[in-house]
Amino acid sequence: MKIYEKAPAKINLLLDVIRKREDGYHEVEMIMTMVDLADRLEMEELPRDTIIISSQAGYIPLDEKNLAFQAAKLIKERYDVRKGVYIHLDKKIPVAAGLAGGSSDAAAALRGLNRLWGLQIPEDELCRLGAELGSDVPFCVTGGTALATGRGEKLEKIENPPGCWVVLAKPPINVSTADVYGKLRANEIGRHPSAANMLSAIRRGDFNDICAGLGNVLEDVTLKLYPEVLQLKESMQRLGADGVLMSGSGPTVFGLVSKEAKLARIYNGLRGFCKEVYVVRMLT
Ligand code: ATP
Repeated sequence: MKIYEKAPAKINLLLDVIRKREDGYHEVEMIMTMVDLADRLEMEELPRDTIIISSQAGYIPLDEKNLAFQAAKLIKERYDVRKGVYIHLDKKIPVAAGLAGGSSDAAAALRGLNRLWGLQIPEDELCRLGAELGSDVPFCVTGGTALATGRGEKLEKIENPPGCWVVLAKPPINVSTADVYGKLRANEIGRHPSAANMLSAIRRGDFNDICAGLGNVLEDVTLKLYPEVLQLKESMQRLGADGVLMSGSGPTVFGLVSKEAKLARIYNGLRGFCKEVYVVRMLT
């Protein structure tokens, strides 16, 4: 039997760092949602007790470093599954882009293998397994929109923001999340975005207030290290996006746009100097 599972990209509408904890992790407050740019996982049971990963994308690891591999290994160990699986990753989400592509693949593997092997693992348990693989994985298991606290693994589901267009642009650089967090001085953050304001804007379905409340303290680090990300933000603003922010640790910048009529100008303007531009919908 073959099954398929979609792994959508996430964007952070808000990313705040409260403090650096004694265990080295950062205490964060994030509001995350998903967009309709997704990898697709094809999973097929193998009679032999092995995990095989393939992908059309030549630039991701296909061994135990791949997060989908790690998800399969974890579920096999915990639930004593003695069968194997072949997972093909059809990658559409740019890699190391701040869009949680790897985390979403891991979450999709957990959901898919739960179905493939009829394990009936409840969603909260899948989230706990996901937390062992990475801070963003539990959110990717549940999807939707959520407020994440702790190191990102404590989730509170909230309603989805109103539907809109999302323009994503990724400059040709790879940013390491660990490096950005490592360079962040948590006690020197100038302006913390307000999660309370963003939550209220989402609850009211107020698109303009959502755009006004966008904020990501990791911009402090990434924009200084990579001026091209700042340039991309400024261009998107100038071209008429309603709200613009860097996602995660970057380098992808996204723009929220309510009117379809604006999209061609924004897309064409960005494509003049940035090769990777995607126009998608917010998942609602
Ligand atoms: P986040 O926003 O959670 O920090 P990201 O979008 O910045 O994630 P990913 O695309 O998840 O970054 O990739 C980060 C690293 O993980 C890459 O360097 C890649 O080699 C590795 N990786 C492991 N598994 C995968 C996968 N299934 N897809 C993409 N990258 C993967």
